[in-house]
Amino acid sequence: MTWDLIGHDWAVQLLRGHILNNSLRHAYLITGPRGVGKANLAIRFIQALTCPEGGSSGNPCLVCQTCKRVDRLEYPDLFPVGVEEESKQIKIDQIRELIHNLSLSPYEAGRRFGLLLDFENASPSAQNSLLKTLEEPPGSVILILTSITSSALLDTITSRCEEIKLNSVPLDVTSRGLQELHNIPPQEAQFLAHISGGKPEIALAMHVDPDILERRRNLFNEHLEILAGNSVRRFAYANQVSKDPHKVRELLDTWISIWQDILHQSSQSQIPLQNIDREEDIQHILRQVDFATTRNSLILFRRAHQLLGENANLKLTLEDLMLGLPTISTSL
Ligand SMILES: [Zn+2]
Repeated sequence: MTWDLIGHDWAVQLLRGHILNNSLRHAYLITGPRGVGKANLAIRFIQALTCPEGGSSGNPCLVCQTCKRVDRLEYPDLFPVGVEEESKQIKIDQIRELIHNLSLSPYEAGRRFGLLLDFENASPSAQNSLLKTLEEPPGSVILILTSITSSALLDTITSRCEEIKLNSVPLDVTSRGLQELHNIPPQEAQFLAHISGGKPEIALAMHVDPDILERRRNLFNEHLEILAGNSVRRFAYANQVSKDPHKVRELLDTWISIWQDILHQSSQSQIPLQNIDREEDIQHILRQVDFATTRNSLILFRRAHQLLGENANLKLTLEDLMLGLPTISTSL
């Protein structure tokens, strides 16, 4: 297998099978946590379908001009759609433009591809405007949607797609992939596999950009501070961070990972710590909460995560979350 992805072998086999058996679907929906590699899988799939060097193998060569252009999303028969800068949503105009482009004949490939990234960010009207194309797609078109979860999309969208559900990648597979495919030294690869929680794209981003690790450290410290703070402090914090949706996403990912670690530790699970560099802090919180509090905190986080996926009000969602979290003293 030469799709050169970290993990998700079963999904590669499934998609490769569709290519080799000539049983391609008109629409795919790839779901899974942020950073797990949804877009990469979609790009490899498109490369496998367009690479002139692949022959009948169902594998892309990854080095020819076609593979490289697809990778850069600069291939003339590939139409990527995502949230544009300065915008929070995929808009109906973007979908209309996509539908128009897909209706034209392919330039190079025998097909045209619509790649709709992070489609949970599409407004309901944008989602609705895609329905007809999903229902009766032009013959040579393949649509690939990615989303954190299918529940953030209209049922009428998900029911017309073949869903491919990606999970976090096992830590040893992540670590090995980081070493073999990206030449990351073993010790760093293991550390990144852990703290990314088996999400290869997050691990790679942390490798390339040390600022992400620094932000994670700060978010961890801010959480300890919030847990020790009163409601005035918590509301002020919610108010401040709600102005930065990108930070809120990182914040939730980091804070959820803290509470998952606490839950695993309190239930004496064999699952390894994600925040291996903060074991002392995890133990400190663990000593002050019982199992029910931990579980309730995680439920609060998951609800906040889901609400944000549905474009709920950031400030209100964060305030609710802050109010529900337990109080933990800071003195170690
Ligand atoms: Zn190629």
